[in-house]
Amino acid sequence: MNPNCIFCKIVAREIPAKIVYEDEDLLCFQDINPQAPVHVLLIPKKHIPSMAEIQENDIHLIGKLFFTASKIAKKLGIEEDGFRLVVNTNRDAQQTVFHLHIHILGGRPMSWPPG
Ligand code: 5GP
Ligand code: ZN
Repeated sequence: MNPNCIFCKIVAREIPAKIVYEDEDLLCFQDINPQAPVHVLLIPKKHIPSMAEIQENDIHLIGKLFFTASKIAKKLGIEEDGFRLVVNTNRDAQQTVFHLHIHILGGRPMSWPPG
């Protein structure tokens, strides 16, 4: 728990969020400013600032994070039409919250390349 981290506060239920999935390691909740009809954030409960700071002992957790993202996409009904997983990392990618999170986006066609 990082006391200055907004997503740690969501994990600790100090800040409310619309939670769509939870287990002992992970939490998934609605993005407060959705960019698509489906836009949820999946995070490890452990405070890892970004993909640039994962450690070798996080390999199992990161695998579970992506496996669970796929399960949640199915649960939210976007697996067949398709979905996008986004992990913004540091300045050039415009990461704004420095607690690792996967954006799970779906429900509309998306363009490529990203802006
Ligand atoms: P980033 O830009 O770091 O990849 O994404 C951060 C995401 O967190 C943004 O999509 C933003 O809308 C979302 N966000 C920021 N603060 C909160 C919050 O307090 N609650 C929720 N549910 N989402 C948040
Ligand atoms: Zn945190």
